[in-house]
Amino acid sequence: MACPHQCVFCNQQKISGTINAPKPAEIKEIINKYLSTLNKNIETEIAFFGGSFTGIPIKLQEEYLIEAHKFIKSGKVNSIRVSTRPDYIDENILQILKKYGVKTIELGAQSTDNYVLNKSGRGHNFEAIKNSAILIKSFGFELGLQMMIGLPGDTREKSIQTALDIVALGADNTRIYPTLVVKDTELEKLYITGKYVPLQINEAVSITKELINIFHKNNIKVLRVGLHPSEELTPENSFIAGPIHNSFKELVLTDIWKDILTEKLNNFMPSEYKFVVNSNQINYAVGYKKSNIKYFYSKGFKLKFFGKLEIPLFEIHDCNN
Ligand code: SF4
Repeated sequence: MACPHQCVFCNQQKISGTINAPKPAEIKEIINKYLSTLNKNIETEIAFFGGSFTGIPIKLQEEYLIEAHKFIKSGKVNSIRVSTRPDYIDENILQILKKYGVKTIELGAQSTDNYVLNKSGRGHNFEAIKNSAILIKSFGFELGLQMMIGLPGDTREKSIQTALDIVALGADNTRIYPTLVVKDTELEKLYITGKYVPLQINEAVSITKELINIFHKNNIKVLRVGLHPSEELTPENSFIAGPIHNSFKELVLTDIWKDILTEKLNNFMPSEYKFVVNSNQINYAVGYKKSNIKYFYSKGFKLKFFGKLEIPLFEIHDCNN
């Protein structure tokens, strides 16, 4: 809803997988349906995503927010988040979002490079991202700044600069999406005529790895890496080209752990070693399809991992048991 549809990579309807947004009167039922599937004590959030929430008419925004706010008041839901474009933020809008208990605002920044923004048809510049981010923070909201890699005119260096700018703008969280060529978009035409070359999967993994390292060092939570695989994004439907992979995040984290292990084992003699890592990281330390285990085995290291939830994300501890 409310989207000018000018970004070269986006066919909003195909990506969001739904053509009709639910009406305000329908969302109570939707939220209750989802709440019934969740345990009572977990943190819950209502998210207005898949478009530019603050671009829809103010009256309609309020109708949605009134419904969502009822769940906050009753304590059934903890918070609300919305996603929008950087140029759809002003003081009036932020006052409304505050009034109805919105906690987090995510902006699709995509890039902080004006050339890339322009080539991607975003319709806003870095200045707009900066101004909105500053305003959002000054109102006390949590700020999310989403970014994309492999956009037209983009380079590894520009993506890294975007991540550094996201850090400098004080974002609390981010999402990283590799650019995909989707059917019926401007990017499809550029791709067909050879004017746009998508990233290879290994390039996308390697750039994303660098970005995650930057965000991790600066305590910025990476909420998502890559698009959710959906039925719509298949070659039979709207996927045309680009670095798509069902386990994209796993590939990136496997690579991060390969680096961590390489550094750790640098002065170790080939042998059998046991390490403790964060419980949620064991699969990544082991690697996608056990690739890290196999790789280090080929170098003479037989590795075994144990998990502990208290261990920070990318730390590795020696196991003395
Ligand atoms: S990326 Fe966002 S702003 Fe651009 S066309 Fe798609 S929904 Fe609209």
